[in-house]
This record gives sequence, structure tokens and C-alpha cells, in this order.
Amino acid sequence: DHALYMAKAAGRGRAELDGGGSSELSRDLAAALAAGDVHVHFQPVVDLPSGRMTGVEALVRWTHPRLGPVSPERFVAVAEENGLIAALGEQVLRTAVTQLTPLRLAAGGSLGLGINVSGRELCDPGYPTRVRAVLEESGWPASDVVLEVTESLLEGQSSAAVAALHVLRAGGLRIAIDDFGTGYSSLSRLDTLPVDILKFDSSFIATIATSPRRAQMLESMVGMAGALGLSVVAEGVETDAQDAVLKRVGCTYAQGWLYGRPIPATELVAPRDLAYATVLR
Ligand code: C2E
Ligand code: MG
Ligand code: MG
Ligand code: MG
Repeated sequence: DHALYMAKAAGRGRAELDGGGSSELSRDLAAALAAGDVHVHFQPVVDLPSGRMTGVEALVRWTHPRLGPVSPERFVAVAEENGLIAALGEQVLRTAVTQLTPLRLAAGGSLGLGINVSGRELCDPGYPTRVRAVLEESGWPASDVVLEVTESLLEGQSSAAVAALHVLRAGGLRIAIDDFGTGYSSLSRLDTLPVDILKFDSSFIATIATSPRRAQMLESMVGMAGALGLSVVAEGVETDAQDAVLKRVGCTYAQGWLYGRPIPATELVAPRDLAYATVLR
């Protein structure tokens, strides 16, 4: 139909503008998934008061044979369009729980695992069943998994996405709003969503050490989150000055290059033995 044709034409236009790689990515992603060429890196999440790693976020990685490393934002969008997102998401989750099980056991049985979920993936009616199957088969506790969804995803496709989050949360998983502060969620809307954690976007964290107003806003949001019973994670922490502000305003968890970059599972250190921040910096 006409609207669909226009959408497809617009899609082609974009692919040409960004260098013509999109159709090549689309074609090669299926083969890369089948060949095991799509990898997962893990970035530590630290508990700020103790400096210890309490969990990790899984971040997907793909190096295209001709185009080189492709940003996950780009090939996740491709996978959403060509229908590979279910296979991609399942592979990331299965890889994560498989590779991290030794680390979880070394940590005393519990290790937080953040998994990013895209809109199409979450709205696919089979998604909650697939997640449950992978967790059951690996023995990974559902309560240690945090599904990260963006504010914009919940705005755009609200009913199906929110319904899926309710199902997943009833199954014991936790839900985080990723990139919080970049969308337009009202506080009353936030109060109605099935959410456990707010992840403050790196663009906001980048301003907190140099702008007292931003630091004040952060402090207010940390207080509000606490009043609503939500945990808070700061993303993209790069400097000691940002770390100091986060500690001063009572933010509990943080992620960023200051504490550790995304790395393969084999390079992660068991959190019980070592104060992660001291070891890796
Ligand atoms: P996100 O979930 O908000 O992930 C945070 C991004 O910030 C990651 O980029 C991470 O590498 C980067 N980062 C972490 N610490 C720092 C820092 O201190 N400074 C700076 N400048 N950047 C930092 P990455 O790995 O390129 O991922 C980008 C986005 O792609 C993610 O944003 C997420 O939305 C999406 N994504 C990644 N993996 C997956 C996946 O497995 N599935 C889905 N659906 N989306 C994914
Ligand atoms: Mg994330
Ligand atoms: Mg984020
Ligand atoms: Mg992001």
C-alpha cells in the first residue's frame, strides 16, 4: 500500500545517505549470528559507597568483515527492521548467562545482569516466554536480570510494551528505564509504569560536575526516586569530579569508563574478592 511504499522509499533514502551499508548489514547480520560472530561485552555496575562491582550490563558487539566495527545502535535498528531482533536478543541473553555463570557463582550466587531490550523485541508476544526459557535452562535467577528499556520506547508503543513489562516483572525480572532524562516521561506517568530502576543518561551526568543547577536537579531526582522506591544508576561516569557529586547526592550505583569499560567476560574479576574500582583504575 501507499504508506508502506513511502516508508520503504524513505528507508532506502537513509541507507544511501549513510554510506549505503544498511542493506549490506541487513544481509550479513543473519550469517554473523549463525556463525557466532556477534559477541557480547560487559560493563561493570559499581555500588558507589563500597566501590564494588554488583553487576554488569551486556552490550552487543559486531565487527563486519568489510565495514569494520558497527555501532550496536545501528545494527539493532537493522535487526528490528529485518526481523532478526528476536534471534539477536535471544543470543545476547544466552551468551551473557552462559559466559557469566562462573562469575555469578564466584560472587556468591548473585550478580546483576542488565540486558537492553528494543521496542519490537519487547512487543513480540513470544518475548517473555523466550526469556523465561533461557533463564530456566541456565539456572540464572530471574531477580538478577534487569531489562533496560528506554523512555521513548514506552511513549511510542505504550500498551503492548507496558503489558509485556508487567508480565516479565511478575516473573521476577526487574525493569530499568534506560537513558532516563532524555525523554518526556512525566512523574505521574513514571509512577504508573512497572519500573524498579532509573538509569540517568550520560548526557545528564556529563553536566553535574560543572553545573550546580544540574547537581541540584540530580539530588532532587535521587530523592524522588527514593521516595518512589526506585534504585538509581548513573551512566557514563568519566571523571572523579562526577563520582564525587554522585556520592554526595546519595546516588547508589554507577557505570562508566571511570570504573571500567565494556570488556569480554573472561576479563571480568569476581566481585567478592576484589574492590573492583581499585583494581581496574
Ligand atoms: P545504553 O544501554 O544506554 O548503553 C550505554 C552506552 O554507553 C554503551 O554504548 C556504552 O559502551 C557506553 N558507555 C559506557 N560508559 C561510558 C562512558 O563513561 N563514556 C561514554 N562516552 N560512553 C560510555 P554502546 O555499547 O555503543 O551501546 C549503545 C546502545 O546500543 C546502548 O545504549 C543500547 O541502547 C544499545 N544496545 C547495546 N547492546 C544492545 C543489545 O544487546 N540489545 C539491544 N536491543 N540494544 C543494545
Ligand atoms: Mg542500557
Ligand atoms: Mg543508557
Ligand atoms: Mg543509550
